[in-house]
Amino acid sequence: MAVLAVAELKGDSLKKISKELVSAGRTLGTPVVALLVNGNDAQAKELLGAGADTVVKATLANYSPEGMANIVSAVAKEKGAKIVLAAHSVLGRDYAGRVAVQLGANVAADVVSIKGSLENVELRKPVYSGKAFANIRIKSPAVITVRPNSQEVKAHSGAEAIETSSAGEGNVTGKITSTDMSGGSKIQLTDASIIVSGGRGIKGPENWPLLQALCDVTGAALGASRAAVDAGWISHSAQVGQTGKTVSPNCYIACGISGAIQHLAGMGSSKYIVAINKDKDAPIFKVATYGIVDDLFKVVPAMTDEFKKVLG
Ligand SMILES: Cc1cc2nc3c(=O)[nH]c(=O)nc-3n(C[C@H](O)[C@H](O)[C@H](O)COP(=O)(O)OP(=O)(O)OC[C@H]3O[C@@H](n4cnc5c(N)ncnc54)[C@H](O)[C@@H]3O)c2cc1C
Repeated sequence: MAVLAVAELKGDSLKKISKELVSAGRTLGTPVVALLVNGNDAQAKELLGAGADTVVKATLANYSPEGMANIVSAVAKEKGAKIVLAAHSVLGRDYAGRVAVQLGANVAADVVSIKGSLENVELRKPVYSGKAFANIRIKSPAVITVRPNSQEVKAHSGAEAIETSSAGEGNVTGKITSTDMSGGSKIQLTDASIIVSGGRGIKGPENWPLLQALCDVTGAALGASRAAVDAGWISHSAQVGQTGKTVSPNCYIACGISGAIQHLAGMGSSKYIVAINKDKDAPIFKVATYGIVDDLFKVVPAMTDEFKKVLG
């Protein structure tokens, strides 16, 4: 029995969630096998350092959910993995369900806590748009998608085994013919460790550069409330909330957002929430770690300048 953690890449970098999956897998049992598709040895070593006993490298020339699922299932079978951990990301959600079907496995999505053993896994996941949590116990085999930034990465040193699998995309009936990346944030919202979000309080699309400047200096992704999206100020891909994206960054900076329950549903699990709102009674202050009651047009440029000084 083993745990298979499926790594994700962004360009040349390993996404942090990949290491979170490996470390979380180790709490269930060993060996932990990390699957690295289209990655290199440096990335494989990062996975070993986060808790993988073995890294299996595989190649997928053209991404398709079927092709990816075929590789994951083949490696899971080869390694006797009873638990497959994948990111609850756009990619993970694209293929994880197929893997569960192929392995005849139970499935749990968007979990934020993982405990137990390889036979019985105890999970916690937000339900009803984050208003409550469900504690779930499932038996293996299971495919589990894990919310990015929800797990601790623990350093590990042990045997260093990097293997190459011959598993390929197999039989693929549907292929992606094109991808439209327009309208998105420079950094993917669901992966970002800092998000600066704007709401109706920013007054109009001409003011996004103000927030983008703060994003640029802090390395944040740009998000938005539904009010800003519905007004046509930004694309829906930036929307955070019940009918948008669910995010869990280390720091969420809400600018001119009132904090409606549907917005909180998408960002309530952020580690630190900074709210900038000129209405001291805005509901966002109930969940904020730090609240600034002031005009965002004064506060955001001042913050950007300060971050520039501190971060260079
Ligand atoms: C089924 C359903 C699903 C929904 N899904 C979502 C969702 O996914 N995401 C989402 O966000 N919403 C969602 N909504 C909408 C939600 O209920 C709110 O209407 C929306 O979140 C409000 O957006 P807002 O906070 O930007 O605007 P408002 O509620 O209008 O708040 C604007 C805030 O800006 C502040 N402000 C104004 N000027 C300034 C200034 N100069 N400086 C500082 N502060 C200022 C105001 O004090 C106010 O608090 C959904 C609603 C429904 C019914």
